[in-house]
Amino acid sequence: MAPESDSAPYAGHLTVFFASQTGNAESISRNIHEQALEKGFKSLHFVLNDFAKVDWDKEECLVFVVSTTGDGDPPDNSTKFWRHLRKLKGVGLTKAKFAILGLGDTNYDNFCQTAKRLDTRLQELGASPFYARGLADDATGLEETVDPWIKDMWPALAQIVISTSSAQGSPQPQTTKLEEEIVKDIIEQQEHDHSSHITSEKTATTAPAMDSVVKETGAVDTLVEGVKGLSVAAGLTSAVPAAGYHIDVDFSTMANHTTLTALPRVPNANLKITNVETTTTAPTGKQAKLIPSFIQTPTRLMSAKINSVQCLTPETALKRTLSVEFGFDDDLDYSPGDSFGIWAPNDDSLVRGVLAALSVTDEDINKLVKLEGEDIPTHLQPVHSATLLDIFRYSVDLTTAPKKANIRLYADHATDAAEKQKLMFMASKQGVDVFNAFRAQSPTLLDILHTFPSVKVPVARVIETLPPMQPRYYSITNSPLAKHGHRRWSCAFNVVAYELPEGIKRRGVCTPWLDELSSKVPFGKTVTTGFADVRLPVFVKPNETKFNLPSDTTTPVIMIGPGTGVAPFIGFLEHRAEQRKIKKRLVNIGVGSRRQHLDDLFGDMWLFFGCRHRERDWLFRSQMEEYKQEGVLTELHVAVSREEDVPNSGKYVQDLLRKEGKRIWNLLDKKGALIYVCGDAKGMAKSVNDELINVLVEYGGFEKTAALLELNKWAQEKRYLRDLWA
Ligand code: NAP
Repeated sequence: MAPESDSAPYAGHLTVFFASQTGNAESISRNIHEQALEKGFKSLHFVLNDFAKVDWDKEECLVFVVSTTGDGDPPDNSTKFWRHLRKLKGVGLTKAKFAILGLGDTNYDNFCQTAKRLDTRLQELGASPFYARGLADDATGLEETVDPWIKDMWPALAQIVISTSSAQGSPQPQTTKLEEEIVKDIIEQQEHDHSSHITSEKTATTAPAMDSVVKETGAVDTLVEGVKGLSVAAGLTSAVPAAGYHIDVDFSTMANHTTLTALPRVPNANLKITNVETTTTAPTGKQAKLIPSFIQTPTRLMSAKINSVQCLTPETALKRTLSVEFGFDDDLDYSPGDSFGIWAPNDDSLVRGVLAALSVTDEDINKLVKLEGEDIPTHLQPVHSATLLDIFRYSVDLTTAPKKANIRLYADHATDAAEKQKLMFMASKQGVDVFNAFRAQSPTLLDILHTFPSVKVPVARVIETLPPMQPRYYSITNSPLAKHGHRRWSCAFNVVAYELPEGIKRRGVCTPWLDELSSKVPFGKTVTTGFADVRLPVFVKPNETKFNLPSDTTTPVIMIGPGTGVAPFIGFLEHRAEQRKIKKRLVNIGVGSRRQHLDDLFGDMWLFFGCRHRERDWLFRSQMEEYKQEGVLTELHVAVSREEDVPNSGKYVQDLLRKEGKRIWNLLDKKGALIYVCGDAKGMAKSVNDELINVLVEYGGFEKTAALLELNKWAQEKRYLRDLWA
């Protein structure tokens, strides 16, 4: 691996790489990098897709912090690196010593798959680990593993730095001495239990919100330039600022602890907000609704109109499900099974509430600013000219429950001693139960500021420590072969809006926004008007898993997707129906006895769907029944979880797989069927996987372990395809 150019930076001692989907791995790796610099190491910090910025042939010490997404897939910002890694041959990394910290969740299959794959691949390429791999589990709390892993890494790292430089007969003996001191310091530090007394914490400085803003005259890169014409003309009203909820938790256990340990390190303050002086004022009115150019998507951002919105479920259903059709002016290139992303803004009243709580004046929220600073989070780097309003709308995640490091930061900025004490307690090892109870109420940033009103954090600190805003992804439920199919996408989703037992109302980011854009369409109605002004920022999600219909139309497919997990299969069925129509026209078959010929050209399509009540949430029922009638869908199996004694059914899709086990095995064994599973990665996917193993054992004659290996092989061969969602 060679650097892209001679001027590319090169790490003498340590390079920290990250691959992050939601920003966790990025902030942890930044923390390692910053600590490394503080400890006297020479350190560089890169996203994995920037792998070519360092000279891998010379790299001696590498630290990776990588998360896993979907069905054990690497994060989007490392896919280029993985492609590169796959192509490499031989053992070109013999000099490199590495350490890997993986982030994952044991509720999902393929726990920390990226970290494990990376470990194997680096060793195949000749590199060797200098420190044991750490695998942190979000199910039990990432910090449980992350903090001790980092703490214990420093002595191992220091040793490796010393051994590599002395092995080379280091040209700078004084560096070795320095490194020896580092090792000594670290070991001493380790011996001393890193503890902190609540009352010994330094008093927070009260910083007015815009204190960190300095003036600069600069060229303006207006909002319109990046993504011309994209706007969200509805939904971004000048909403009344929300007030936030008071989060009630029991702090009585705090009295039992005078010493707090394992307090997270507060990330460095790197971000500077600079006013952009311009003769052009920030856009107002309709202009203000343009999508800012700093949004970064994995594929080209496009502007979508709304063609129609339909509500699929009555009020009696547990969930409100909408089907939305988007229209485009240009032709699209996609296949059924692909997904797309929508970049939705944070709720406007939440944004305005947060800005008000941070004491940003109405005048300041609309000023154009630039975000600058060394090694600021990647999602903030493209913000060259934007209003604070847009930065809070589109760039940061205001709704995900806080991490301990955030709580610790807010504690540092609390002016009230009692509030500071509570926040410090929650950030400590001793306050973990209180922290978990606090997080269980999914507090937004506004709720935290409302609950601890003396917290006065500078805006720059808030922006750089919040997780990045994430696009929301939906499966495409239609086929490009259908009428105007190349100029439209449909999707189906549940509107995420619910109330906690404490009476606190919570809502998702994108789905309630789409619901409100279409004025909450009632059940059974399809609305096609009223969206003339609306343009939404969307993009195609790269499909790494090849979750598409087989090119050979005679290959049978078994589709398993309860709830909205059925979405891609509706696209598969429409596609197959169109393929049949085309074939029918081409060969003029399909009449009377010749109908058989048409069926011979297409393999079986079996669908296993699951709902709670047939009358309430059997999504796309009429389409399914029509496809069945037409012979497009060969078999339809519907599990019903909350109705008693439904004939020929079962509670869950996996129960129906068990019932049909023998016939499923025959379809797999005799006709080489493909299996597709779509939906919830936690419960459903695991149970379906177990049931498929049972089918292989019971009807295929496999031993249990052999069945598991066979399924894994099918997954590798793209014969068993899964599109799993968190
Ligand atoms: P849902 O309404 O929560 O559930 C649908 C059915 O599945 C219900 O009958 C439910 O039964 C049952 N179910 C619950 N636990 C199960 C388990 N362990 N095994 C099998 N069945 C189980 O479904 P949903 O909310 O629509 O969720 C589907 C999943 O698909 C989500 O993870 C979603 O993100 C994902 N997805 C969405 C799209 C999209 O484009 N919107 C596309 C693909 C996938 P009970 O509740 O009665 O137990």
